[in-house]
Amino acid sequence: MNHKKSTSRLWVCLVFLAFPVLTLSGQPSVSGKNLASERLRQTVKQKTRRQTAGIGHPMRLVGRAECFSLNHPSCKGVAPPHNWRSSDNPPQDPAQNTPPSDAWAPEYEPLLKQGMEALWRNEPDKAERLLTKAADLEPSGPYAFSLLGITYLYWKDQLGAAEYCMREAIKRGGSAVFRVFHDHDGLFVRNCTGYLHISADGVAFQADDGQHTFTADHNSIREFLPNEFVGSEYAAFHVKVRDSQKKTKNYNFAPWTNRHAEKELALRVYRFATGIQPATP
Ligand SMILES: [Zn+2]
Repeated sequence: MNHKKSTSRLWVCLVFLAFPVLTLSGQPSVSGKNLASERLRQTVKQKTRRQTAGIGHPMRLVGRAECFSLNHPSCKGVAPPHNWRSSDNPPQDPAQNTPPSDAWAPEYEPLLKQGMEALWRNEPDKAERLLTKAADLEPSGPYAFSLLGITYLYWKDQLGAAEYCMREAIKRGGSAVFRVFHDHDGLFVRNCTGYLHISADGVAFQADDGQHTFTADHNSIREFLPNEFVGSEYAAFHVKVRDSQKKTKNYNFAPWTNRHAEKELALRVYRFATGIQPATP
C-alpha cells in the first residue's frame, strides 16, 4: 500500500515536470537524437575541451509554448501511455499524497507556466523572478523549486543555487531534474536523450522517445555512481536498477554539459534524496 502511494506520488511529480519534457525537447525522435549524436561526435573530436556552448541549450532547442497542453495536436504521440494527466483531467487516484493543484494558490500554476515560457524565450532572469515569486506564494509546492533548479543549472550556471533548489524540491515531495544522454553502445555515439528525475521516492528516467523510460524506488537502485571507463570523458555515471524479477539493468548517463561538476551535483542530490523520508499522507 505504501509502495503504491509512493509510486503514485512520484508519478504525479513526474507528470508535472514532463511538461517541459514534452515542450522543450520538441521532436526528439528526429532532431533530438541527431543533435545529441552530432554533439557527442563533436565532443569526441575535441576531447581536450569540454563542450558547454555552441551546441544548443538542453531546453532551448525547439521550445514550443503551445505544447503546454497535452491535448495540443503537436504533442500527440509524445505523451506517455498511462498515469498521465492534463490540466483538465485531474488525477483521480485517492492514494496520491501531493496536494491537488486546486489546493494551491490560484496564481501558483500560472506563475510556473510563465516561468517556463520565459525559459523557452531564453529569459532566465525573468524566469527566476517568476519562479521565485511562485515559490514564495506557495512555500509547500515543490515545482517552483524544481524549475528553479533547472534554471540555475542550465541557464545561469549557478550550481550552488541549483543544488539548494533541487534539495528544497525533494524535501517538498518533488524532483530534481537533470537533462541527460543515455548511452546505447558503450561509446555514447548511439544514445537517446531525456530527463532524469531524482526524488525522495527514487529515480526515474523519462526518455524523449519513451524507449528507455524507467522508474525505480530507492530499494531497487543498486548503484548510482560515476563511471571509471564508459563515457568518463563525458563525465558519465551509471544507475544500476534491479527489477521485480531481480534482474539488474545498468543505465549509463552523461550529463548534458559533459561537466564533472554537473555529474557530482547529480550524485550529491541523489545521496541527499536517499536520506529523505518520502512524505506520507
Ligand atoms: Zn536510451
